[in-house]
Amino acid sequence: MSTAFYSHSDCRRHDMGPGHPECPQRLDAIDDHLLKHGLLDVVERREAPLAELADLGRAHESHYVVELQDLLERVAERGEHCALDPDTMAGPGTWRAVLRAAGAAVAATDAVLDGAVENAFCSVRPPGHHATRDAAMGFCFLNNVAVAARHALDVRGLERVAIVDFDVHHGNGTEDIIANDERVLMVSFFQHPLYPYSGGVPKGTNMVNLPVPPYTRGPEIRDLIEAHWMPRLEAFRPQMLFVSAGFDAHRDDDLGQLGLVEADYEWITRRLKAVAERHAQGRIVSCLEGGYNLGALARSVAAHLRVLAGV
Ligand SMILES: [Zn+2]
Repeated sequence: MSTAFYSHSDCRRHDMGPGHPECPQRLDAIDDHLLKHGLLDVVERREAPLAELADLGRAHESHYVVELQDLLERVAERGEHCALDPDTMAGPGTWRAVLRAAGAAVAATDAVLDGAVENAFCSVRPPGHHATRDAAMGFCFLNNVAVAARHALDVRGLERVAIVDFDVHHGNGTEDIIANDERVLMVSFFQHPLYPYSGGVPKGTNMVNLPVPPYTRGPEIRDLIEAHWMPRLEAFRPQMLFVSAGFDAHRDDDLGQLGLVEADYEWITRRLKAVAERHAQGRIVSCLEGGYNLGALARSVAAHLRVLAGV
């Protein structure tokens, strides 16, 4: 069984301006590194399709989807730029990138559920885990992982899915969408306090939030995962795992102050894969979130992908 690798050149055409850390070069850095180390040869490369509007409505308010489409199509037609929040900018390429990112997550879910591949990684941007039911924020427009999880539940008929978020920032958008949806268990750790300054108190009983102080390092994170994520995941017996794969908890990443290294991402992925193999026929869909030091991002994605692909 193989690993699918979803991406699309449209994801590079979303540009938030000079100096913005969530830049198109992130995907180039990943591709270059994977290519150099032969990893693109061991995955099944697939083009991300555009998401259908109906897919988006399973995680977002319909008025938000309509308003976002109107705004981003207008921005594209006029060749303009516009700020949705102080650090989330749209430009002419944004709407198609947004649809490719969500479309990748949905297509990856279908490919995994159809048994075409065992698991999948979506190398896409913009990221999604800060996008709430009705707002873009924190570099995110649509919540790719939540859209995919709801697709698995509402369209493909799964009864239980897990969302795992290891980005350095709290996945407030995902929590906003799936809190108290008892078909979903969300487990995460995140630096606290740090943007978006939420998550200290979980919004639902289906959330396992692990806020950690700055300078927490890999060994402590592994202990917390073993003590708090694993028993809940084992008890929940998810039929599929979705991963908000942010790599900005890396010690070289300037957007956070945690101390993870490549070996920690490898370890986390192994633990998740074990859960998936026990309960979910190995089914994992992982979507890129943060990760802004280009070298650390590329090496960490490679560590994650090696475990997914079993090489
Ligand atoms: Zn982040």
